[in-house]
Amino acid sequence: MSASDLTSLGIAGQRALLANRKASAVELVEAHFREIENNRHLNVFITEMRDEAFSRAKASDERIAAGNALPLDGIAIAVKDNYCTRGVRTTAGSNILGNFVPPYESTVTRKLLDAGAVIVGKTNMDEFAMGSSTESSHFGPTINPAGVRAGLENIAPGGSSGGSAAAVAANMAAGALGSDTGGSIRQPAGFCGVVGFKPTYGVCSRWGIVAYGSSLDQAGVFTRSVADAATLMDVISGEDKKDTTSYPRDDYGFASALGEPAGKLRIGFAKEVIEAGSTAETDTVWAAARALADKMGAEIVEVSIPSFKYSLPAYYIIALSEASSNLARYDGVRYGYRASGAKDITDMYEKTRAEGFGAEVKRRIMLGTFTLSAGYYDAYYLKAQKVRNKIRGEFEAAFQLCDVLFMPTTPTAAFAIGSHSSDPVEMYLEDVFTVPVNMAGLPAISVPVTKSVNGLPLGLQIVGPQFADTTVMRAAAAVEMAVPAL
Ligand code: GLN
Repeated sequence: MSASDLTSLGIAGQRALLANRKASAVELVEAHFREIENNRHLNVFITEMRDEAFSRAKASDERIAAGNALPLDGIAIAVKDNYCTRGVRTTAGSNILGNFVPPYESTVTRKLLDAGAVIVGKTNMDEFAMGSSTESSHFGPTINPAGVRAGLENIAPGGSSGGSAAAVAANMAAGALGSDTGGSIRQPAGFCGVVGFKPTYGVCSRWGIVAYGSSLDQAGVFTRSVADAATLMDVISGEDKKDTTSYPRDDYGFASALGEPAGKLRIGFAKEVIEAGSTAETDTVWAAARALADKMGAEIVEVSIPSFKYSLPAYYIIALSEASSNLARYDGVRYGYRASGAKDITDMYEKTRAEGFGAEVKRRIMLGTFTLSAGYYDAYYLKAQKVRNKIRGEFEAAFQLCDVLFMPTTPTAAFAIGSHSSDPVEMYLEDVFTVPVNMAGLPAISVPVTKSVNGLPLGLQIVGPQFADTTVMRAAAAVEMAVPAL
């Protein structure tokens, strides 16, 4: 089997080869590094982990030979560079953490390693996960492999987890970790034509993930199939005593749920979501969504989420308020970069933060500090929290009538690098369909279902009630099966 055949298989196919001794873990890792080398111009990785990967693959082969294989032995995984990895530089896409080497391992990456996974590298991302294109990365933007495939130059992969989505789309890894505060897994998955799953807030531990908006941040995965996403979720989910917001449950049974009959699904279409923004691409996705629901023999239910349109502004108050507080810790004293030539400690703080953070991060710290300030706290932050509660309640009411909601992942297909960078609000509008889900803490997945007129992938977003993560997964598997019949 050729290297590209091996890497195109996905997790399930690669596990079968390993189990039947048709390929070794070292061969698989070699094949993935060939793709990584062939695609360096896409700027997908901030740090490649070649040596670690090969020594872990050798250990996987020994376990397989001894009949003690772990669930992810020999499986190449790319990790977003905001997961702290012990002894391996973790930058969060920022200059301020440019030389930060964590002395500890995040819970989610620890779980992957304990399951035998082979981490191939740390992927590019928007600085501190703030953005929708990877353009705010200190390490330069990533190029979308789906754009290259469609014959288009310099298309953004989405963000903030753009590097992870691109790694999976270009077969540089069989799966990848992302984090999703307002869409950072689903939007790049949509743009790159892969599956991206964000679980219910609390299903995965956030311990050791560089914090952005702590009440919204959640770990999740990129894969090329729904079944592969379930396999990874079974490994990374579960309670963690080090994260008090992780939910006290260990066995979600993602993969086994896919084996159960889905039953007749009630699929909700919300009128306010349809009204939230109509573009050529959303029209295409809505049409595909209806056709897929029909193919699946589902019942279509009209529901209402009246405050949907207030999600975006409220999100950009809550996320930025939390970010301004979370990012106060980067002061040149304890982590990463410290500016030289300061005349006193205040000067050192100021210079370090001025030189260490990029423009988008500075904008957000200033906005977040403003919305938390004494005179404005009630008018902005408190008001946004009230909107958040209302949205949560409206989703809950909608889920009395349906099992899952269908909606587009993004308002447009992937855009050209540079086309959205002059106007931050234009970039924020990219998140119109994804942020409401984080505001309500719900599980959601993006599955590639159709293409734009330019041949770029378009994702369908499937959203479920809190902790109905396996329902979302099952619906996604049914969608995936129905797509070729469209
Ligand atoms: N684009 C959104 C933001 O910039 C979401 C990012 C994310 O989910 N990390 O806040």
